[in-house]
Amino acid sequence: MRQSALPSVVRPCPDCPGTRHRPSGKIRVNASGKLLDVWLLLSCAGCDRTSKVPVHERVHVSALEPARLVAYENNDPAVVRELTIDASLAARNAYRLDWSGSWELETPAPTPRHALDALDDPSPLRVVVGFELPAPVRVERLLMRGLGLSRTAVRRMVRDGRIRLPLAPEAKARRDFAFTVHGPGAASAEA
Ligand SMILES: [Zn+2]
Repeated sequence: MRQSALPSVVRPCPDCPGTRHRPSGKIRVNASGKLLDVWLLLSCAGCDRTSKVPVHERVHVSALEPARLVAYENNDPAVVRELTIDASLAARNAYRLDWSGSWELETPAPTPRHALDALDDPSPLRVVVGFELPAPVRVERLLMRGLGLSRTAVRRMVRDGRIRLPLAPEAKARRDFAFTVHGPGAASAEA
């Protein structure tokens, strides 16, 4: 799972009917004496209106690591990314993240489909799915795309024990997991 874009922040825009916001790439820091306010700045995808997401409110300057403060002041892209995908920041500020279009699945060549077809080896094929960003994606959908199989074929292979998953096919994964694919004889061999 490669990142192709950051997720959108979904919340109402006061100026237009749009709800999708993108990080503007900027972080604003305001100091009042020793107290700091830090915001992540967003742009409305519909009208470009800038809005702010509070990251720290009235926090004492000594409570932030100096390197962190420098990163905020320099609009560090890694920190913008980290804040944008932060589920707890989203929860705290009552908005939703829309991950559509934020990722693409990269499969090794030759595709696992070829390995699947040739799978007569008694030792199973172990497949690791690595997530570059925590986009929640249904496991079944990953398998369909990654293995080049239909939903029906995926479900059948799971049912037959040829694909063994650490989580349900309908579950959404958002972090690395591994599964195994077994040869056609696997199910009958165990029965
Ligand atoms: Zn707007």
